[in-house]
Amino acid sequence: MAKVIAVVNQKGGVGKTTSTINLGACLAVAEKRTLIIDLDPQGNGSAGLGLSPEIFSGANIYHAVIGATPLSNAIYDTELSNLKICPSDNNLIGAEIELVSEFARESKLKSAISEVADRFDYILIDCPPSLGLLTVNALNASDSFLVPLQTEYFAMEGLAQLVNTVKLVRSSLNTSLQMEGILLTMFDKRANLHKQVALEIQKHFGEKVFKTVIPRNVKLSECPSFGKPIVLYDIESKGSEAYLQLAKELLLRNRSHQNDSGVASRNTYQQSTHHEAVENNLHA
Ligand code: ATP
Ligand code: MG
Repeated sequence: MAKVIAVVNQKGGVGKTTSTINLGACLAVAEKRTLIIDLDPQGNGSAGLGLSPEIFSGANIYHAVIGATPLSNAIYDTELSNLKICPSDNNLIGAEIELVSEFARESKLKSAISEVADRFDYILIDCPPSLGLLTVNALNASDSFLVPLQTEYFAMEGLAQLVNTVKLVRSSLNTSLQMEGILLTMFDKRANLHKQVALEIQKHFGEKVFKTVIPRNVKLSECPSFGKPIVLYDIESKGSEAYLQLAKELLLRNRSHQNDSGVASRNTYQQSTHHEAVENNLHA
């Protein structure tokens, strides 16, 4: 049964899509059967994996969410055999409106995913930059959520709203929703501000912050225009190294989680060692 992870932050341009594509690709390289669901009407995740809208205009996440087709009909291959994508285009904007009057409108994505969950190890959902019905559907359908945060001055602005939405989803829809982690993105080790912001976030969220920090790396911004994840575009780049490391960290966290047969095991990450590891990565 797949672990479903929503990649979420209502702030725009923080690295949600870049992280979804590249973490997904690295999990696939690690032989995990991975599905990316592009839940953003902007369709950046679909384009970034080389899919053109003509191919999927008849069957995509919009059709699956409104119940017009099973999700399995809207899944497409990528260049990596273990990585599949359920793409999106701007028709998905209509779904938010069409679903408003529907029964169980917050559970449409969850129902759609249940049909294919046993075919994958990981399902990553790339959320739009809002906390609307699509994001609520993603949080309701997920086991956990991952929050990319750009290490800029206003990084934590708006997080309170996200935390609030998560609380509401937990209390009314999905009581077992966990935080997978906070991912620091577009980090520039030469910028003092970035270091300060990163340490501030680390102080606030402790072991929830991934040890892996994603650097600002021009290759990461180039690869979507070639329709390739970073591991196929430039495996030796810093960006590729970072996302491979992130996949490893995520798999290790989840392995210890499983080994403890359901007992929350994040405390196998000793707080002090964790803190040091994040700091080391900030200075590396
Ligand atoms: P939106 O909220 O619009 O969906 P997003 O949160 O998905 O945005 P991305 O599209 O992943 O953010 O990234 C925003 C821009 O920053 C893109 O042009 C992307 O190529 C670039 N970018 C993301 N991560 C990095 C990085 N680590 N280094 C350099 N550029 C990056
Ligand atoms: Mg995006």
